[in-house]
Amino acid sequence: MQTGFLKPIEADTLFLAHATVPVALVDGVDLVPDRDGLAGVDILISGGRIARIAPTGAAAPQDIAVADLDHGLVFPGFVELHTHLDKGHIWPRRRNPDGTFQGALENVSADRLAHWTADDVRRRMDFALRSAYAHGTTAIRTHIDSIAPQHRISWPVFRAMREAWEGRIDLQGSPLFGINFAADEAFVDAIVAEVAAHGTGILGAVTYMVPELEAGLATLFRKAAEHGFDLDFHVDETGDPTVKTLGVIAETALATGFQGRITVGHCCSLARQDEATVDRTLDLMAKAGIAVVSLPMCNMYLQDRVPGRTPRWRGVTLLHEMKARGIPVAVSSDNTRDPFYAYGDLDPVEVFREAVRILHLDHPMGDWPAVIARTPASVMRRPDLGVIAEGAPADLVLFRARSWTEFLSRPQADRTVLRRGRAIDRTLPDYRELDDLMHNRSEPSAE
Ligand SMILES: [Zn+2]
Repeated sequence: MQTGFLKPIEADTLFLAHATVPVALVDGVDLVPDRDGLAGVDILISGGRIARIAPTGAAAPQDIAVADLDHGLVFPGFVELHTHLDKGHIWPRRRNPDGTFQGALENVSADRLAHWTADDVRRRMDFALRSAYAHGTTAIRTHIDSIAPQHRISWPVFRAMREAWEGRIDLQGSPLFGINFAADEAFVDAIVAEVAAHGTGILGAVTYMVPELEAGLATLFRKAAEHGFDLDFHVDETGDPTVKTLGVIAETALATGFQGRITVGHCCSLARQDEATVDRTLDLMAKAGIAVVSLPMCNMYLQDRVPGRTPRWRGVTLLHEMKARGIPVAVSSDNTRDPFYAYGDLDPVEVFREAVRILHLDHPMGDWPAVIARTPASVMRRPDLGVIAEGAPADLVLFRARSWTEFLSRPQADRTVLRRGRAIDRTLPDYRELDDLMHNRSEPSAE
């Protein structure tokens, strides 16, 4: 049992004294943020819920357990808007030989065809979820590779995992396939049937500059409207400035008057386009109410990679400009230990630390902490998550770090995660558990 820095306290009522909170993540209490967007509070937990939040200074109620956090930071449970739990942890049997986007596509496809049985997908998903839970995450949206025949294998697994993890991690799923497949209405109907039977009301695809783009989008928007689904797209994950499907998505949303939520991930090429194109696209996105999730670790890894040449750009989209226009923005893990990203562990603290550095979310930090909590939760229609509020479940992540410079300088491996007010076991699963899945007869040279 590993519970982090705080000694486990077995008490129904607990007073967290001298906590430091990002004010942007607290609801219902008047707090005055300091120049880093932080404020000191005391938090009373009772019966697994947050009973009271008040500026630091109130005396602890009599005769109850007290944990003095000595000004350590407290976050709400984290929320991941964009992951790939079905691809995770295949790296040892299928690496990306040159680290490029094309290498990722080809090698994931080969691995899927060779290995993705229900048991293989289930065990890797479970491993990933246990890691995420130990890091303090309460909700995850995963994309699910849905090219036939994989959709019939993975969606029932997703549903089983969602039910098994209910109450610990709220799981959402979005189907993933190239937009060219959406031209085939029978295929889209088969996907809609899987989503209706096993999914969580989200339809999606990867958009490319292909002849089927407009027709494919029209079909997906129509099907989503018919079934009351939200939409989630992988968009323009390339440094090629001529790739502009983002604007087409926004135009389709406006033309159809789509009433559901639309989320777009990546949007890398936007950062390589001229100012007039950028302004026009951002205006359309804001008007259409589209939310954005940036994947800074994967973008840094895949974008501008040419063997033997030093990368010249960071790969990320225009998060500051989007936020300034009122577009909801989040950051998330994306891939973990697969050919799209060789590393990662579904730890939002790492994602935020890297996002701050890659995207300059600091000086001032302001409400940027919302990108791993409040904003993705709201996009996922779970406004009750990702915030610290009276009456909410006491799902909190406690740190020894007292300030951003302390928080972002270390991995925070000694954090304590409270679920319903109790410290959970934060022991991470051992990679050796997956060793028996990692033999790859088709690629004997893999290490
Ligand atoms: Zn992705």
